[in-house]
Amino acid sequence: MRDIYDVAVLGAGPAGLTAALYAARANLKTVLIEQLGPGGQMATTATIENYPGFAEPIDGVELAMRMLQQAEGFGAEIVYDQVETVEFSRAIKEIKVSSAIYNARAVIIATGASPRKLAVPGEARFTGQGVSYCATCDGALYANKQVMVVGGGDTAVEDALFLTRFASSVTLVHRRDKLRAVSALVACAVSNPKIHFAYNTVVKNIYGDKKVEGVVLADVITKEERAMPLDGVFVCVGQIPNTNYLGAKLPLDEYGYVVTHEEVATAWPGVFVAGDVRQKPFRQVATAVGDGALAAHAADKYLGEAMR
Ligand code: NAP
Repeated sequence: MRDIYDVAVLGAGPAGLTAALYAARANLKTVLIEQLGPGGQMATTATIENYPGFAEPIDGVELAMRMLQQAEGFGAEIVYDQVETVEFSRAIKEIKVSSAIYNARAVIIATGASPRKLAVPGEARFTGQGVSYCATCDGALYANKQVMVVGGGDTAVEDALFLTRFASSVTLVHRRDKLRAVSALVACAVSNPKIHFAYNTVVKNIYGDKKVEGVVLADVITKEERAMPLDGVFVCVGQIPNTNYLGAKLPLDEYGYVVTHEEVATAWPGVFVAGDVRQKPFRQVATAVGDGALAAHAADKYLGEAMR
């Protein structure tokens, strides 16, 4: 007979770690299932400056380890495995991972999102050899080199600014004539002499021999193409929510985020959604943590009502 958990939390980013901490502290038998390591995207951020309580910036991996330690301290169990399928139709839900099946009365989905790819020739071949999705992880490898950042959002501009600490020049390539990043970030980037801008421009392909040697850019208006030699390409074109394992069990919005109602609840009794995987206006560590606490509270309330 398998153990039946009160709560299974899927994903150990800040939302999942907080959900597990709150659930375990509420004395619910809690399992946290994570395919890689704790922290999710937070663990790819070297300096988190806007998480309350840390006036000195904190490293994302360290914050994740502290959250995990706290959740485990209250009794949450962590399992490292990949969720393959889920079954929500019965009171005891089923989560199939690659090597086992977990049963739980309530489930909190907190599987986050992964970086979107450019899908151009050379991108996959040179990933790790000059193509990166994480400036804070790989930026230091580009001391005195020429790099490019692709994208026009907060991540692209923030990463371009970060890369100026190492690189000799940073070209920000955006497919529109205007960045969508917040004005404070844009102002910093515009006044940084190391950052150059290529608007209305897309990457057609990434070339090289054993590592990246350059890119071919195309002007979206004139269609003109030009080669630009460089050492690194940082792709910052948004996120894709991690929902493959859900099948068609929950409604997704046009971008693939899980649609919830009443904040973190879904149409399935006992199934809740927290963090970046959820349709919401603002994705931050602080909002993920808030979601995790809300989802654990909702699960606790659901379990209390279900037992009555
Ligand atoms: P985002 O806001 O979705 O921006 C993605 C950018 O990539 C957009 O400029 C988009 O162009 C471009 N893009 C998408 N697909 C592309 C493609 N195939 N080829 C070329 N360009 C493409 O993503 P994000 O910057 O990662 O931000 C995600 C969320 O995190 C946002 O809510 C953001 O505010 C938040 N964030 C906050 C902070 C902070 O507060 N410090 C830092 C980072 C991120 P279009 O403009 O044409 O759509």
